[in-house]
Amino acid sequence: MFTLIQLPYAIDALEPVISARTLEFHHGKHLQGYVDNLNKLIVGTEFEPLCHSERSEESGVCHSERSEESILAEIVAKAPAGPIFNNAGQILNHNLYFTQFMSYQSVPELVEGPIEAAGPLLKQITTQWGTLAAFQKEFEAKGASLFGSGWVWLQADAKGELSIAQYAGADNPVAHGLKPILTFDVWEHAYYLDYQNRRPAHLAALWDIVDWKVLKDRYAMKAL
Ligand code: MN
Repeated sequence: MFTLIQLPYAIDALEPVISARTLEFHHGKHLQGYVDNLNKLIVGTEFEPLCHSERSEESGVCHSERSEESILAEIVAKAPAGPIFNNAGQILNHNLYFTQFMSYQSVPELVEGPIEAAGPLLKQITTQWGTLAAFQKEFEAKGASLFGSGWVWLQADAKGELSIAQYAGADNPVAHGLKPILTFDVWEHAYYLDYQNRRPAHLAALWDIVDWKVLKDRYAMKAL
């Protein structure tokens, strides 16, 4: 069985950018819903053994050697369009989303420090976009202009070349053979309690809680 990922910070740690109330619904209700759905959907399919091979009968939790994200990535890469793809994709997307943030009080010194010292990811961003601010502006614009529900992503190809992409629904870079680095959720459930229809204001505020150390590690990783 897949399990709900634990938040690596307190429920109110992202305020005022993301309120505790939004996190309670977004993590505790929406993501939990995708987890519950996938656990029902994979029973009897080719994907069930991925997580049940060394399953503990007592806890029902997947005891595979692999991370849940690695298993979800395999499902997303193989599953045809439909409920399994949608729910596995949404779990993977949200796991990457929630773990890329850090407490608002400890905003990364990284963003303010010298780009050169901030690792290969920020160096690549400035190579391609000129400045971090120019990259952020395009990322926000692509998030704001995505029609309906979906995700805006920073993704990398095998050579480390970066691009910003809009994906609808549960789709993501993994389904297209690319590496996921950063994502902003533009489904209304991600921001409506705090920002109502002001999606651009929500996207602009998210930079204050992005943990660039996590993004650097993702960029350096071979695969999930
Ligand atoms: Mn969401």
